[in-house]
Formats: sequence, structure tokens, C-alpha cells
Amino acid sequence: MVNPETASKILLDESEMPTQWYNIVADLPVPPPPALHPMTHEPAGPEDFAPLFPMALIEQEVSTKRYIDIPGGVLDVYKLWRPSPLYRARRLEKLLDTPAKIYYKYEGVSPSGSHKTNTSVPQAYYNHQEGITKLTTETGAGQWGSALAFATAQYGMECEVWQVAASHRAKPYRRTMMEIWGASVHASPSELTEFGRQLLAENPDHPGSLGIAISEAVSEAVADPKTRYALGSVLNHVLLHQTIIGEEALLQLAKVGDVPDVLVGCTGGGSNFGGLAFPFLREKLAGKMNPTIRCVEPAACPSLTKGEYRYDFGDTAGLTPLMKMHTLGHDFVPEPIHAGGLRYHGMSPLVSHIYDQGLVEAISIPQTECFAGAIQFARAEGIVPAPEPTHAIAAAVREALAAKEAGEERVILTALCGHGHLDLASYETYLAGTMTDLDLSDDAIAEAMKSVPVLG
Ligand SMILES: *Cc1c(COP(=O)(O)O)cnc(C)c1O
Repeated sequence: MVNPETASKILLDESEMPTQWYNIVADLPVPPPPALHPMTHEPAGPEDFAPLFPMALIEQEVSTKRYIDIPGGVLDVYKLWRPSPLYRARRLEKLLDTPAKIYYKYEGVSPSGSHKTNTSVPQAYYNHQEGITKLTTETGAGQWGSALAFATAQYGMECEVWQVAASHRAKPYRRTMMEIWGASVHASPSELTEFGRQLLAENPDHPGSLGIAISEAVSEAVADPKTRYALGSVLNHVLLHQTIIGEEALLQLAKVGDVPDVLVGCTGGGSNFGGLAFPFLREKLAGKMNPTIRCVEPAACPSLTKGEYRYDFGDTAGLTPLMKMHTLGHDFVPEPIHAGGLRYHGMSPLVSHIYDQGLVEAISIPQTECFAGAIQFARAEGIVPAPEPTHAIAAAVREALAAKEAGEERVILTALCGHGHLDLASYETYLAGTMTDLDLSDDAIAEAMKSVPVLG
């Protein structure tokens, strides 16, 4: 039994692991706007996605069913690291001298070190079921590429990854990790695709971007009937798969009799945030709890807080369906902040929609504050966070200090969605005192927004 007075690690038995994902679309007061065909601008049908994804995932992408069963072949692999632990950050609470309770759901226990395996495994599984033998993808920070490399290896599939050139140079160990699991990895832009060759001709030292790498991976997938593409964030089916995080956290908090007053999560494409937050939003919409739910994004790539809610492409070349999302423009190349996984021009359409509906809040935090929070966290709790969730930690620290100011015992919940063992260079920069904050000027945003299509 868990003793709520002393517990700092709240575990679930394998037999308590949820066996269904939760689809928030079933419970939204207003349905989210559909994706549009990139040429006709009509609502995109299943056939528009068919060259990219297997039918099972396309069905999930447009599903309005509240719960979707997790297949046994996925549960088996999940059990390698799930259920993941929920921690009460008692040592951080003490360090901050706060009356608040801080809980964090830790996803760094997965083989690749982040939450991304929660979706890479089902994506590989469904593709395998439909006879697909190879998946292509992009990776920015390297987290998604390694998660997909691990998952494809589980089902004996091939995996080809376009890694953003800047990260390919800066993170050789992520590349090695992908190669250990059998993936082949190219720097993007690459000589392998028409779009990549074009960009390299303009600039042989092109640093690349997620949008460009997506274009390359997509163009390779559509050219081969046995190959499909896999995306690690943004899409509805990805957020669906991540809801196992929130479903487990609900069960774990119930064991200690706590209900969150505030839930904060970092948002790049919105998947770890949606994964934790959506099951709690379901409870909130049902009137069972009333947490404030807040997205936290980097000040240098603020798609929710500074972008516009418009139809835009998911990639730079404009190959994907148009999605209504908070966007900085698909041409936007963000500053090289350390949280590589948060450098995406758009936000998931589902998170964008619930933000537009006023169901969640959003803030941005500059990276030096994030790393300051992460250092406090690591010294107290021991775990070295990935650069992305340092945003969530900094927001949790702000909340804990506000609770102290107010003299209130608030319950704070966040996702520590990955560890930072392969991101130590960012900590090195911070500790050397040379990390700077990169703010995004309104002029730069206005310039990038020019690439967003104007729909008739
Ligand atoms: C990819 C990644 C992110 C950003 O993606 P989301 O879809 O917003 O979760 C955040 N944290 C880690 C550790 C990641 O690997």
C-alpha cells in the first residue's frame, strides 16, 4: 500500500496498466476543424492520408470514439517500461520551501528515454499489421528518431531517419543510438531528395529544420508502396497514444488521494502535454475536478502565445494536408535553442483547438530560467531532465513559489517527459554561463507568417 504521508514514488502494477487510449474529441463541446486537402482545400478524406499512414492510424486520426483498445501486441512492448512512475518531488518542495505538493510523471524510463515510445510502438505495430516493411521519419533533437528506431526493431521493420543537420552534427550519440536499433540516418537537407538537393545547392551548410526534414521523409515514403511515414507529435492519433500517461497518472494520484489544482506541460507539437492533460480535461469537463491546465512553450518558438490560429502546412515544402493550428508559418526556422524538440513552427490541431476554446492556458518561458529550474530539480530529485521538460519544471517552480507567497497547499502536476543524458552539452553551456535567451521579434514572426496560405 502507498502511504500518502511519506510516498515519493507511486507505482502501478502491470495488471493496473490502462488498456485503452482516450480520445478527447468525443468530449469536446465544439468539434475541432478538419484537415484540408493541400490543393483543393476541401476537407481531407482517408484516401488523402493513405500514401502516408496505414488505415488503422487514419481511422484513429478522424475517430470520434471515446476509448480505443490498445492492441495486445502493443501492450506487450509497453510493459518493457510501463506503467511509468509518478513521483512526489518532496526534495524539490523542501528546497523551494513551499507548501505546494509537486508531482511529476516520469517518462524517461522508456528505452529511448522519452514519452515518444508511447506512440512509436503502436505506429510501428499498425504499419506492420498492414504489411508495411519500412517507415521513414524526421527527427530534430533525436528523441523521436530513436523512439521509432526502437519500435521498428521490435517488429522487424526497416527505419530511415532524416535528422535535422544542426542536430546531426551536435548529437552524434543520438545517431549512434538509432543505428544500434538498426535505423539508417541522414543529415537533412540531404542529397537523397529533390527538395534536399535544391536547398543544399542554395546553401551547402544549411542547418536544416524539422519542416524540411518532414518534407524529405514524406517524399521518400510516398514513392514506395511498402513504405509509410511516421510523425512523432502534432497529429490526433499521436496525442491519442500518449493519453496512457494521463490515464496512469489519474490512477496514481487516486492512490495518494490527491487531485491537481494546476497541471503544466511543455509543448513542442503538443503530444506529451496532450497525453498528460487530456484525461484530466475529461474529468474537468465532467465537473469532477477543476485544475488550471497550462501549456509551456519556449520564448524563442512561441506558436501558441504569439502565432496565429490559421490553416497551415505541417512541413516546409507544403506536401502535408493543411491543418488548422497555432502557427509561426511553415517557413519559420527557429533559433537554435537547446530544447530541440520544441522547435516546431506549429502546434497540434487538438491542442490549438482547446486553447482557442479557452479550455487551457499558455505561457512562454526563456531558456535560462528553464535551465535554472532544471538544475534545482536535478540537485534535489536526482534526475537530469531533457531540455524540453525544463520548461515544465520552470513553470512548476513558478507555481510552487506562488503557492508559498499565497500560503496555499496547491497540488501541482507535470510531466517529466524525458531524461537529458544525451543533452549534456546544453547543461555545459548553462553551467559555463554562456547560455543566452533568444527572444523572437514581432518582425521575424510577421515575416514567417507570410508563408501561411490565404484560403479563399
Ligand atoms: C519530442 C519531445 C518533446 C516535444 O514534443 P511534444 O509533442 O510537444 O511532446 C518534448 N520533450 C521531449 C523529451 C521530447 O522528446
